[in-house]
Amino acid sequence: MSGTGTKKVVVIGGGILGASTAAHLARGGARVTLVTAGSLADGASGRSIAWLNSSGDRSAEYHYLRLIALDRYRTWSARHPESSAYLRFDGAMKWAGSGESFAETFAFERAGGYDAVWVDRADVAAVAPDVNPDAVADEGAIWNPGEGWVSLPDLIAALVEEAVTDGARIIEHVGDARVVVQDGAADGVVLGDGTRLPADEVVLATGPAVPAQLAALGVTVPDATPPAFVLFTDPVDVEVRTVLNTPRVAVRPTPDGRLVLDADWAEKSVVVGDDGSLTVPEESVQGLLDEASKVLAGNPRLTAQRVGAGLKPIPGDGEPVVGAVPSIDGLYTVFTHSGATLGLVLGELLAEEILTGRPSPVLASFRLDRFAAEAELDAVGTGAWAPVAQP
Ligand SMILES: Cc1cc2nc3c(=O)[nH]c(=O)nc-3n(C[C@H](O)[C@H](O)[C@H](O)COP(=O)(O)OP(=O)(O)OC[C@H]3O[C@@H](n4cnc5c(N)ncnc54)[C@H](O)[C@@H]3O)c2cc1C
Repeated sequence: MSGTGTKKVVVIGGGILGASTAAHLARGGARVTLVTAGSLADGASGRSIAWLNSSGDRSAEYHYLRLIALDRYRTWSARHPESSAYLRFDGAMKWAGSGESFAETFAFERAGGYDAVWVDRADVAAVAPDVNPDAVADEGAIWNPGEGWVSLPDLIAALVEEAVTDGARIIEHVGDARVVVQDGAADGVVLGDGTRLPADEVVLATGPAVPAQLAALGVTVPDATPPAFVLFTDPVDVEVRTVLNTPRVAVRPTPDGRLVLDADWAEKSVVVGDDGSLTVPEESVQGLLDEASKVLAGNPRLTAQRVGAGLKPIPGDGEPVVGAVPSIDGLYTVFTHSGATLGLVLGELLAEEILTGRPSPVLASFRLDRFAAEAELDAVGTGAWAPVAQP
């Protein structure tokens, strides 16, 4: 990557997007400081299903972004053989709920050349011996051999190690860091204890906190962030390699032999207190364990190790928000769902934009100002923007 190697950049946020951006900036020669409120990976990145995919029906631009995102993971995996402990492409299986069909999803995936195989129930055991065929829909399932999962805390640790080797400074436990704006330009960051870090450029990568932090600077980002949780099981004595997305539970393995589980119905059961605290009902924990046992071969008995509850960052229209904040010079942001899938590529492309000053054409559909343009259309009654549910 060519560019001005002397840029001083402060990245706020120690999740996958902050860590990836910081690592790519440092690799490109910038003087990088990454600050984060608590510990690295203590936000959404520490409680993600982290299924790596471009599954289902989406815009051509977003599908392309996800495909190159998967490509970056393949490169990472080839360059870091040790990553096979925390990054796997062992395939994923999904099937429809009762009264629904995945025939159109399958046709869409095949039409785009996406690696998808229709599997009849009788053939499930041959492609995914860890799946219980009896749990699969009558019509069968979609098997995506090229999909996988990543343990984001492990990837973040590896990215941060690289960043430090390339000269970056990492500061954890800084509390609530804020962007300092002077005369319409970001020129530093103030940490929770009042320490001020000067910067030529600032990257706001604070996950679900991005919309509120930008709002404080007068910038609106439509926000569809829900409360969510994943359940980590105790180690299981059966081998699970397949990522499962089934009507009642999603399942993926962890590097230390556990499973991570979540489901839409369970997410909706989270109780939000007046103080913003999140409570996960005990029935949802047991329900997820029961549902996961049903979809796994041999119906293993599963027990809960811990619940990871918090906000799941999702922009209002479901697609990523990435790049320069138009009204504030020197301020960049990245706010997205599917940040596990997108983490490596978005960090790389955003770092390149900062280092070279050249916007990436690949990110053209994902700019913050798309909302402003559509808000103007809305004002005259022709706007197309509407919040969408995110799978
Ligand atoms: C339940 C669940 C399931 C998911 N499943 C998938 C999936 O299957 N596939 C997929 O691709 N993606 C999935 N995602 C999405 C993905 O995990 C997120 O998009 C990604 O982790 C977001 O990373 P981030 O770096 O933006 O945010 P985070 O990981 O939340 O990191 C932000 C960091 O910023 C810090 N911070 C916040 N405010 C401040 C402040 N003021 N000052 C300093 N630091 C601050 C936080 O402490 C945190 O460490 C899932 C997410 C959840 C929650």
